[in-house]
Amino acid sequence: MQVPCTRTHYRMRFKPPSFPDLSRHFPAFFNPSFIPTSYSRSFFPAMATLSTQKEPLSPPTDVTHKTHQPLQVAKRLEKFKGTIFTQMSLLARKHGAINLGQGFPNFDGPDFIKEAAIQAIRDGKNQYARGYGVPDLNFAIADRFKKDTGLTVDPEKEVTVTSGCTEAIAATMLGLINPGDEVIVFAPFYDSYAATLSIAGANVKGITLRPPDFAVPMEELKSAISKNTRAIIINTPHNPTGKMFTREELQTIASLCIENDVLVFTDEVYDKLSFDMDHISMASLPGMFERTVTMNSLGKTFSLTGWKIGWAIAPPHLTWGVRQAHCFLTFSTSAPMQWATAAALRAPDSYYEELKRDYMAKRAILVEGLKAVGFKVFPSSGTYFVVVDHTPFGLENDVAFCEYLTKEVGVVAIPTSVFYLNPEDGKNLVRFAFCKDEQTLSAAVERMKEKLKRN
Ligand code: GLN
Repeated sequence: MQVPCTRTHYRMRFKPPSFPDLSRHFPAFFNPSFIPTSYSRSFFPAMATLSTQKEPLSPPTDVTHKTHQPLQVAKRLEKFKGTIFTQMSLLARKHGAINLGQGFPNFDGPDFIKEAAIQAIRDGKNQYARGYGVPDLNFAIADRFKKDTGLTVDPEKEVTVTSGCTEAIAATMLGLINPGDEVIVFAPFYDSYAATLSIAGANVKGITLRPPDFAVPMEELKSAISKNTRAIIINTPHNPTGKMFTREELQTIASLCIENDVLVFTDEVYDKLSFDMDHISMASLPGMFERTVTMNSLGKTFSLTGWKIGWAIAPPHLTWGVRQAHCFLTFSTSAPMQWATAAALRAPDSYYEELKRDYMAKRAILVEGLKAVGFKVFPSSGTYFVVVDHTPFGLENDVAFCEYLTKEVGVVAIPTSVFYLNPEDGKNLVRFAFCKDEQTLSAAVERMKEKLKRN
């Protein structure tokens, strides 16, 4: 009896998803044929073939039965064409350019964690892990969260281990957002949010953070948030800008969320790379834990981005939705790597201090170098990224600049227009990553000094 009743109710409440058609906004990123004439067409041909895989990259010569078929993709994903990061890394390789694009360290993670993984494999921790995480890791995550935020969470009921923070994001969106729900994001924002919100059918409202300080436009936020808002996504320290949300900003967002009964999904994967101010977890603000999903991961903190271990911390009523999605997305995550992650999280404080010190030295090399080259460099308080204004060099937009930089200078950066709902907002800005050894950073700066000329 209840089933038809629920269905009617659902139909009545269902609003068609109104996620904006990002292919119009992110022309170069979503479909090379949409690149305006002012953008170069030759720069992006790799994207279509690489991301859609029309044919194997090197088709075996003896295979003759393959025919070209039209590409197929479900509507919810047709406007996406893979991620900008992979595309830029492939271009870096193709042109022999120094890759300051995709955010992965070009140095290895610590031996003690790698040894722990090897030991776990030798110890036979090789079958399916418990779906929401191996107990040792859930415990280590709760322990770390307590040290970082002062909050005591239940490792069994409030911690879910996922395949990287990317899966935590997907599981959170799919597990807690209904089609038509309004979700607020701060632009520029990571492409993974755009794709998973689109899959979830969310109605996305963007609030733009603008240079030089990328501060939250408070009045705009106040008028955007309402009782119709289901959730707001926060990323602090923020990719790509390096902005860190201030206590005042977080407090304002928190009180608006409490007033309007809004959830907060917060991506804090760069929390240990906070240089100029202390990182503040939204969940630690009064009244916020109850409505917050805090996401984090191993990759950035321990220079092991390829391991793909992440987690979501949330009160049991929100963890329920996250786990419902997670158990059908990946079910569980690599068992030996989870055991090793537990060892990683027990690293002494000195590990984190050294990490920060090393990254501050890298940041100084890149920031000073970029200034000497002639860029206008915006302050990066956290993450391993820095955003610059490329316009002193006379290229008409970020895509054209990145094309020039890759092909003529031999350095790869990330055009930021792909991270905005309105790509015009990012046309002057490109992102450089400094998670590279110092020699690589200096070599990139030298190439730019030599070949980039101010107009
Ligand atoms: N988070 C990384 C970056 O911003 C990229 C991750 C990815 O390639 N999907 O560069």
